[in-house]
Amino acid sequence: MTVNLLDFNQAQLAEYFKGIGEKPFRAKQLMRWMHHFGVNDFAQMTDIAKSLREKLAAEASIAPPEVQMEQVSDDGTRKWLIATDVGNGVETVFIPEDDRGTLCVSSQVGCALECTFCSTGRQGFNRNLKVSEIIGQLWLANCSLRHADGYDMLPPGERIISNVVMMGMGEPLANYDNVVTAMQIMLDDSAYGLSRRRVTLSTSGLVPAMDKLKEDCPVALAVSLHAPNDALRDEIVPINKKYPLKELMAACQRYLVKAPRDFVTFEYVMLDGVNDSVEHARQLLETVRDVPCKFNLIPFNPFPNSGYQTSRPDNIRRFRDVLMQAGYVVTTRKTRGEDIDAACGQLAGKVQDKTKRSSRRIPLEIVA
Ligand code: SAH
Ligand code: SF4
Repeated sequence: MTVNLLDFNQAQLAEYFKGIGEKPFRAKQLMRWMHHFGVNDFAQMTDIAKSLREKLAAEASIAPPEVQMEQVSDDGTRKWLIATDVGNGVETVFIPEDDRGTLCVSSQVGCALECTFCSTGRQGFNRNLKVSEIIGQLWLANCSLRHADGYDMLPPGERIISNVVMMGMGEPLANYDNVVTAMQIMLDDSAYGLSRRRVTLSTSGLVPAMDKLKEDCPVALAVSLHAPNDALRDEIVPINKKYPLKELMAACQRYLVKAPRDFVTFEYVMLDGVNDSVEHARQLLETVRDVPCKFNLIPFNPFPNSGYQTSRPDNIRRFRDVLMQAGYVVTTRKTRGEDIDAACGQLAGKVQDKTKRSSRRIPLEIVA
């Protein structure tokens, strides 16, 4: 089997070149061709000697994962279904906004952590994605967007994808090594050159891995909180039994010493009658007291047989007001790409009924 060069960061690629008797500086050239220019045909790499190009073509490949389906939402959101050998595949979502373009990247096929309100969690765990399958999502999205209507006229060098969020399917810190290597490629100036503030990792709270991440690759951090006390969090985010709130808050404080931003973003899914009362909001203020933070309230995105409902708009507003009155910045996430099931927590990774279910649109005039 040939090696897939998309599995390597620059340092690993340099090792590879050394191993085949070539100069390590070739790694930088290759990173630029593969990631900056999006080329996967060695023959096009004109500043590399023909003999080396032929050698690479014989024993290596640049093989992105296979796209099974691409969909575009009415609001411009795009979703790619990526084939995997097990499970139902994984999904990548591009969300265009006025001032940025954000790619939401998956890290695992399924997820073992079984948060009760998450459709990925309901699938169970299949396997970790390889580095080439994680960075391959960015590679493929770039490639596809470059040829898409509305983007094909962009001046060369203009970034379509300005931000990456590790918020797709799976728990990124449970696939630590591969996710860190993929993020190193995102940050590499020869590859995608994103700043650490523009790459955000979202975790349900794997405390030891958070401590490691702040040393290895301190990107912006989002933590899926979803409950203000241990009793409720134990129930809806079961990993809380292993790493309860007190430990999680301490880990957030430690992370901020190295983080590129001076706050953690706490994500909080709004579940009707479960975690959305004014009392919950007050408890939440107590819980996060010692952690500089912002809040991102996510109206629950329904999926079949979830057993939950989205909080009523009035309750979301009241909850938000309690936090804002205490001086916090609070955003309420707009639901995007709902007609193609691309909203967070809806990524199920299967080719399913694609009819538009307008009854599932949530009547919210959400404040971003
Ligand atoms: N595993 C990581 C990252 C992926 S999920 C994590 O849990 O943080 C990205 C965000 O979407 C998380 O905050 C997650 O809790 C939230 N989410 C999951 N299911 C959801 C749903 N049905 N509706 C709204 N948000 C959901
Ligand atoms: Fe896994 Fe995140 Fe879903 Fe929880 S919310 S099951 S950690 S993907």
